[in-house]
Amino acid sequence: MDVVVIGGGQAGLAAGYHLRRLGIEFAILDAQFAAGGAWQHLWDSLHLFSPAPYSSLPGRPMPHQRGEVHPDAHHVVDYLTAYEHRYQLPVHRPVRVRGVHRDSELLRVDTDSGEWSTRAVVSATGTWARPFLPAVPGREVFGGRQLHTVEYRGPADFAGQRVTVVGGGNSGAQIAADLSAHCDLTWVTRRPPRFLADAIDGRALFDAATARRRALESGAADTGGVASLGDIVAVPPVRVARDAGRLTAQPMFSRLSPEGPVRPDGSAAPADAVIWCTGFRPALSHLAPLGLRTHRGHIPTTGTRASAEPRLHLLGYGDWTGPASATLIGVGRPARDAAREIAELLASSPRGQR
Ligand code: FAD
Repeated sequence: MDVVVIGGGQAGLAAGYHLRRLGIEFAILDAQFAAGGAWQHLWDSLHLFSPAPYSSLPGRPMPHQRGEVHPDAHHVVDYLTAYEHRYQLPVHRPVRVRGVHRDSELLRVDTDSGEWSTRAVVSATGTWARPFLPAVPGREVFGGRQLHTVEYRGPADFAGQRVTVVGGGNSGAQIAADLSAHCDLTWVTRRPPRFLADAIDGRALFDAATARRRALESGAADTGGVASLGDIVAVPPVRVARDAGRLTAQPMFSRLSPEGPVRPDGSAAPADAVIWCTGFRPALSHLAPLGLRTHRGHIPTTGTRASAEPRLHLLGYGDWTGPASATLIGVGRPARDAAREIAELLASSPRGQR
């Protein structure tokens, strides 16, 4: 195999699209049973923060979802499934990659169903498989239910309960909004929530990320990109809950007791459940055998290429692997750049000359 792409979510498919266009032989290995990557596991009420055309992978615009300006997660799964079929992307599933090893001039990809030898690897395993939980004292003694964003399905599980939602990002705000009319909600954040202006949706975010990339490429001052605008996109359900006064954040608690959160002043805020919307880390454990240096959980990259391993590209994990690369519309460009660099690498050491 010339290239093995690890992960068959949107980033892996975007890589596949560009590798195919360049005539490169590749396979995509994906641990899921079905197409759609992380989108298969998002909660029912979640809607994209962009209209369909601004949520498209390269080559094929996302169609509109009937009755919805902002499509839901089921629509994204349908779109990714159709995308795979349209471009006949060779996705093998379920195949879980256990480790990537150097094997002379090749890389050996060990999986739960055999080995692949390849000349280059694109790692596109996302972050969903690595939920992050902060080290808050007392987490182990709390007697109620604790779950992370990845386990949240909807408000029905919490009707009438006292629920504390932790996190001032989009997941925290959206889950708090989702629950706010159904339970006794407390939303806690480390700093006051920063809502983006209501007019800002995924289109504006993409423009901000693009402007930042252009500024950095031209040597101009860093514009700050998306982070400079705020943290929380005011998607319609968030706006409704916020405007109804149901989305007021409290400061973060200092510890958990068996009954629930304890505030810094020592007062108790009993809860039946705590939902940790505290983010994710890149799922990179399969790359550990390569022994690449990591910094804050990231592998140093030049563009998408691992700085210390030119046969490895990392795609879709966040801005450090390309501006807005962890979004549907943003991953296309870094995927194209990765495919081009891989084509150059393969051309510089043709198979017959190895
Ligand atoms: P994933 O979708 O996670 O795909 C990675 C794939 O790799 C998975 O199928 C996984 O099973 C597989 N995998 C992992 N490890 C291995 C392994 N060792 N071997 C084989 N396979 C493996 N983006 C937008 O553009 N618009 C939005 O509105 C938006 N809203 C979001 C809302 C929430 C709550 C979240 C969490 C994210 C949102 N995003 C949004 C961000 C982004 O689009 C998603 O996170 C996206 O799923 C990332 O795609 P990916 O392909 O990088 O990773």
